[in-house]
Amino acid sequence: MLERLWRGWRSARDDAAARRRAIPDDLWKRTLVRYPFLQRRDPADAAELRRLTSLFLDRKEFDCTGGLKLTNALAVSIAAQAALPVLRLGLDRYDGFVGLVIHPEPVVARREHADDDGVVHEYDEPLAGEAMEGGPVMLVWPDVRRAGQSAPQGYNVVIHEFAHVLDMADGLPDGVPLLPPGMERQAWCSVLEREYERFVQRVEADEDTALDPYGATAPEEFFAVASESFFVDPLRMRAEHGALYEQLRNYYGQDPVTDLPAKVLEAR
Ligand SMILES: [Zn+2]
Repeated sequence: MLERLWRGWRSARDDAAARRRAIPDDLWKRTLVRYPFLQRRDPADAAELRRLTSLFLDRKEFDCTGGLKLTNALAVSIAAQAALPVLRLGLDRYDGFVGLVIHPEPVVARREHADDDGVVHEYDEPLAGEAMEGGPVMLVWPDVRRAGQSAPQGYNVVIHEFAHVLDMADGLPDGVPLLPPGMERQAWCSVLEREYERFVQRVEADEDTALDPYGATAPEEFFAVASESFFVDPLRMRAEHGALYEQLRNYYGQDPVTDLPAKVLEAR
């Protein structure tokens, strides 16, 4: 009884939020043209993505730095791309954080790395985004804005960082998100491990790969990079990582190769 009351209250609250944050038709259309990988063949999926985008805008706080202006177009661009991976999983998966920080240019992080002899090397790493447990999620706007052009390379910074958020929902960033009922952790890990090792070898051999070579740095990066490609360049991703594609399809509850309109897939 209480559960039913809670559900009823929550859906009434979400309906009110979706109305309050309704996205104007022209802005939504422009967003879909700019980021074609957001388009869905099924009108019900398309409507759900738009509703989740509104709810995302309602629940999260955007903070623009360095003189960058917070516009509706910027917020909707980010919210829609962040909502895509949780179209079936539900927005509650992002409840662990509230804030997003958006930068006008790449952020340089000072890193340290100890080599095999224990010698510590310092270096600068330019970041296009970063996700931390408990938030905030950091994103670099020019990379987000270019997501339509960079899709054929399988590159998408918003999906990358939100894959990390999903991965960290069970505590550890290890390439294993909280799997839905019916999915086996063992099967996930063995596919991820096998494909990761093969990918590392291909990157070391300087082969041309569908996935961003950055995925060869750690299993959790491999999961994030594979998720980007799964959503924005699914045909190539499936051709090179068939078993992993299956696992991601079961996890996300989506099949981008069939969910995307044919004209979007053919445009590659
Ligand atoms: Zn990453």
